[in-house]
Amino acid sequence: MTAKRVLVAGGAGYIGSHAAKALALAGRIPIVFDDLSAGHEHAVKWGPLVRGDIRDADALRAAIREHRPDAVMHFAARIEVGEGEREPVDFYENNVGGALNLMKVMLEEGVNTLVFSSTCAIYGDPERLPLTEDLPKRPVSVYGRTKAMVEQMLEDVSRARGLNFAALRYFNAAGADMDGEIGEEHDPESHLIPNAIKASVGRGGPMKLFGLDYPTKDGSCVRDYIHVSDLADAHIRAADRLMEAPGNVQVNLGTGDGYTVLEVLKAVETATGRPVPYDLAPRRPGDAVALLADPSKARALLGWTPQHGIDDIVSSAWNFHRRVWGMGNEPALQRAK
Ligand code: UDP
Repeated sequence: MTAKRVLVAGGAGYIGSHAAKALALAGRIPIVFDDLSAGHEHAVKWGPLVRGDIRDADALRAAIREHRPDAVMHFAARIEVGEGEREPVDFYENNVGGALNLMKVMLEEGVNTLVFSSTCAIYGDPERLPLTEDLPKRPVSVYGRTKAMVEQMLEDVSRARGLNFAALRYFNAAGADMDGEIGEEHDPESHLIPNAIKASVGRGGPMKLFGLDYPTKDGSCVRDYIHVSDLADAHIRAADRLMEAPGNVQVNLGTGDGYTVLEVLKAVETATGRPVPYDLAPRRPGDAVALLADPSKARALLGWTPQHGIDDIVSSAWNFHRRVWGMGNEPALQRAK
């Protein structure tokens, strides 16, 4: 049995909108539940939009009763790490309170399958690389703690009440839909690739490069960038697996390949055909030196293999931004090979 009708909480946001598109392309019906506080109405194109707040039990219940989903994907959360340090109440309320509310309403309404957006930030500063799922959860940010808490709640609720869940621990979500229809539109934007693209086209001046004194091959931090459409695909696989084999799945979603910040800037320069001006800035508090996934568990349990590497990630992000900015065809559109 596949998850035919899926409630996509946060489906107007970056990863959620790509999941909604992937669901529609797979012949499913995505029902987007989003309060549009961070998401965009124009990113909801593949199914109905129910405007509502994840913390509002009545709104969730009404959406579930009207649309009768087989499963829920939950993307609705606050994500900016620095903001979490400044606004912890907001983060706990939205991320932990919102997820708890969702679980409660799902159980009341008899919806037992939940795919949850988790993060490699739950591991904190890892003691070894690549990261495997058995490493201890020692988050070093409020954001990471909210996600680790929700995973703990899911385990407890699952044990007691039979909720089937997948916690998908994303590494660095990046890139945009390969057709250019949707992409990353955070405001303010804190992520490396969109910031590098902006800098390379002269929008907002040089970007800041946070630290060149790390113990890595070129002094900049190493991350595992994973294409947003590969993440979307993993969600569909996870929902289907839970419906076929009820239980729990906790997996890392990354490629297993690491790139330094300077290597990413090179890839951006290749895609845009222009240099990426940057100012060297001090290390950003909370940044780990290197994060790298061991994706073998996701491959084994979900049959999931990422289809896009760093070149697709950067070129798809560039294609999306240049369309949004109304830039012409100069330099030539770089499509993935
Ligand atoms: N980074 C940077 N300048 C920026 C944004 C990010 O130098 O404007 C660096 C950041 O310090 C980290 C890497 O790029 O080493 C990835 O950061 P991002 O915020 O994209 O993702 P994170 O790893 O924090 O989830």
